[in-house]
Amino acid sequence: MTENFKDWLELDLEEMEATMVALGESKFRARQLADWIYKKGVFDFAEMTNFSLALREKLAEQTKIGMPNLYSLAESKRDPVKKALLELQDGEIIETVLMQYSYGNSVCVSTQVGCKMGCTFCATGQAGFKRNLTAGEMMAQVLQLRDQIDGTRISHLVLMGMGEPLDNYSEMIKFIKRANAAWGLGIGYRHISISTCGLIPQIRLLQKEDLPINLSISLHAPNDKLRSQIMPIAKRYPIDDLLKALRDYTDQTRRRLTFEYNLIDGVNDREKDALELAQKIKGMLAMVNLIPLNPIEGNNLRRSSKEKINKFAQILNDQGIETTIRREMGTDIDAACGQLRGKFL
Ligand code: SF4
Repeated sequence: MTENFKDWLELDLEEMEATMVALGESKFRARQLADWIYKKGVFDFAEMTNFSLALREKLAEQTKIGMPNLYSLAESKRDPVKKALLELQDGEIIETVLMQYSYGNSVCVSTQVGCKMGCTFCATGQAGFKRNLTAGEMMAQVLQLRDQIDGTRISHLVLMGMGEPLDNYSEMIKFIKRANAAWGLGIGYRHISISTCGLIPQIRLLQKEDLPINLSISLHAPNDKLRSQIMPIAKRYPIDDLLKALRDYTDQTRRRLTFEYNLIDGVNDREKDALELAQKIKGMLAMVNLIPLNPIEGNNLRRSSKEKINKFAQILNDQGIETTIRREMGTDIDAACGQLRGKFL
């Protein structure tokens, strides 16, 4: 095998067809191969029994299916959550989480090795940035986790793992289009959620795509002063500009946004913060998801008390803002983004 090998996971169907033709095969072999990979979860050419021996050998000699190694898999004892550490082909380690809900199986995908955004409450942000993931490496995470539940269908995707998805825009878009495609994973756009810390130019690009995906915004504070203390990105994109871009986004897509708000004791959880937040987002096609902070090592940020969380939610609800409190899942296996990898490294 040479390093320059075509990795089938990096190709869409048309590119797969062109590759088959370049290999001297018929175009329709591409769809058969896609079926093996995406429908049947078979990653070894030798097992692709509707291909001749000669074709199987040619595929193995000249191409590859770049699956990561499953380095470890932790299973929560309390929740239906599994968390994998995956080793990529260059040895980098990423996290991927599988959540088995009553309504279907959801995979939380990483989009970068590390993250540039440096949010102070986030283990991934504190560990720094290594590189972007390719669309194929995002896809491989879903396939690898699906394999751990014997190929049971994955119905939902959340791009909320390591990294800022919109900072790796073109690979992220390629990935969700392939995840949605009938020849790929066939996951409806309405079951795909992307979380961003608020990169305005990319939000505008996403608006132009006009895909019926779910968009979550990590807001975590009602004003720039507070926000920039915990999210450096707030210095680049002021909150009013961000909210303007989001209003434009919902005007076009008519898709409701979710504002994520990590409640940090004594930092952003005061009653006046809730009131200011309500004022800021009033009238927007959006809801708020309050998240009890998952404390990490290396800073002294603490989670707000249950009483404060409930009070914050009540103020928002009283102000007419639909608000939920996120149920915690998998805290016994460090399911918060970046924690498990941090321990491993
Ligand atoms: S919260 Fe998201 S954007 Fe912020 S550092 Fe962590 S991974 Fe990056």
